[in-house]
This record gives sequence, C-alpha cells and structure tokens, in this order.
Amino acid sequence: ADPSPEALQEFLTGLAAEIHARADWGKVADYIPELADVELAQFGIAVQLADGSLCHAGASEVGFSIQSISKVFSLACVLGRIGEQIWQRVGREPSGSRFDSILLLELEKGIPRNPFINAGALVVTDELLTGRTPRDALAEIIHFIRAAAGDDAIHIDRAVAMSEQATGDRNRALGNYLKSYGNLKNPVDYTLGTYFHQCAIEMDCLQLARAGRVIAGLPGAPSILAPARARRITALMLTCGHYDESGDFAFRVGLPGKSGVGGGILMVAPGRASIAIWSPGLNATGNSRAGAYAAEKLAEFTGWSVFG
Ligand code: GLU
Repeated sequence: ADPSPEALQEFLTGLAAEIHARADWGKVADYIPELADVELAQFGIAVQLADGSLCHAGASEVGFSIQSISKVFSLACVLGRIGEQIWQRVGREPSGSRFDSILLLELEKGIPRNPFINAGALVVTDELLTGRTPRDALAEIIHFIRAAAGDDAIHIDRAVAMSEQATGDRNRALGNYLKSYGNLKNPVDYTLGTYFHQCAIEMDCLQLARAGRVIAGLPGAPSILAPARARRITALMLTCGHYDESGDFAFRVGLPGKSGVGGGILMVAPGRASIAIWSPGLNATGNSRAGAYAAEKLAEFTGWSVFG
C-alpha cells in the first residue's frame, strides 16, 4: 500500500535534512553563467499523490531551469499532434552516449536514437514547428505545461534562453547535421531557437510535480494526454531518461524519470505519484547527484517500482 501523506511528509523532511548533512552535491553545470551561478547546496522535492495530496520538503518552491525535462512535454505535444508518425523521424532506443552526441547520427543516417537526447529532441521540436511560427510552437509547449500543472505563472527565463543561444554551437551542429539528412524541415535557427526557449522554462518542484500528473496518469489530472501516449512516454523515460546513465537509474530506482542539466528530475510511479526533485549539483554524467540519491531513497521507502 502507498504511504499515508503524513508518513510520506515525515520521510521527505528527514530526507532533505539527510541530504544537507551528507553534503555530497556534485558540481553545477557551468556552460552558461545563469546555471553556473546557482547556489550548489540546495535540494527540493515534491510528491503529488493519487489522492490529491502534495507533500514536499526543502527548496521545493525555488524555481530552476527545467532544461531537458522539457523534452517530455514536447514529446507529449507532438504525440498529440501527429501520433505515431513521429517514429519515422526518431527512434526509441537508448543511445548509451552523451546527451549531445553526434556519433550515432552518422551511422543511423540522421535518425536520432530517441527523443530525449538532444538530436532527437530537435526533431520533435522541428515537427511541432511545422506549419507554425517559433512563437506558436513554443506557446503550445508552454500551454501544455501550464495546463498540466494548472498554473499559468509558469514562464520562460529569457536570460537562460539567450545564453543557450549564444553558446549552443554543438546543438547548432546537430541541427545542421540533421538537416543534411533531410530530417529537419524548418530553418535550423527556428528549430534551435524554439528548443533553447523550451529548455529555459523555469519551474519549481511543486509546479513540476503537478505537471507530472498527466504523465503519471493520476486521477484528477487534466485530460490532455491519452493514457496510451503517457505509457509510451514513461517507457522512454525509463529507457532513455538519464542519457548514458539510464540503465543505472532504472536499476537503482526502478521508476521512469527524466533529468535536466539544471539539476531537476521528473519521475513517475504510474497511477500512484508524480515526483519532482531538484538539486543543481551534477555527477559526471550530467544528472543531479543528490537528486538521484533522493530518488533511490524515495523508491526504497515507498516500495514504488515499475517492476512490481
Ligand atoms: N540546453 C541543454 C542543451 O541542449 C539541455 C541539456 C540537458 O538538460 O541535459 O545542451
């Protein structure tokens, strides 16, 4: 049985204290100043339960850059728009490579391995752009997230988007490379600009846990994502959600999750809970160090696992 909200709350409060005492934070991302300047010693967690209660602890109301977690929501939008057709342009296999790797793109003729590595996310965003302006495509992603979270205050951090744009040479290379294979339909700058802005969406753990209700298929979640689509997305989160550490996360935690370089993790226990965790210090793979630790402890405490 699921823990009571009271028991869960007590556990989360203790977990936040334990994480501060361990002080094993990793290192903040430093490719743009907006991320490099975030204070390292922070940890927040929020868990939205199926009964509607929302338990949280630590810096759960401090906004952070969701970065690659946005790839979950852009995929949800594209599945809503063109459904399974998207799989003609992007695969569904874990890459085992870095998040921004270009290696496999040559071998696989411009079809990215999955929608959660950068090349795959660019293809998804490109598809959302088709027949639309970058402003409208971006609005679709933001509206989806706001509707999922039930919170119209969620917004883009423009400074982060500008910095991404200024430093995004590797993503630009990926975009051009995809284009050379005919797997980018729009001007590279349009697709990249939209992608950089979706990565720059700012949310706190409370907002992210609420937005995750639609992915977790919780009762009472707004009906903006068909259950069959949510299952597709969670399968990909489990197999591809943590870059080249996805296998290890599945092994240690046993729940689908998607990480971002801002230190966030969106994780779901399908039908039971939506979980948002944030700690900006990263490990060598680019995933939140304290965040992954917390995910493992939470799964242990609750017994939640997609493996029964
Ligand atoms: N904006 C980052 C990039 O595309 C996001 C990557 C991430 O969150 O891992 O390089």
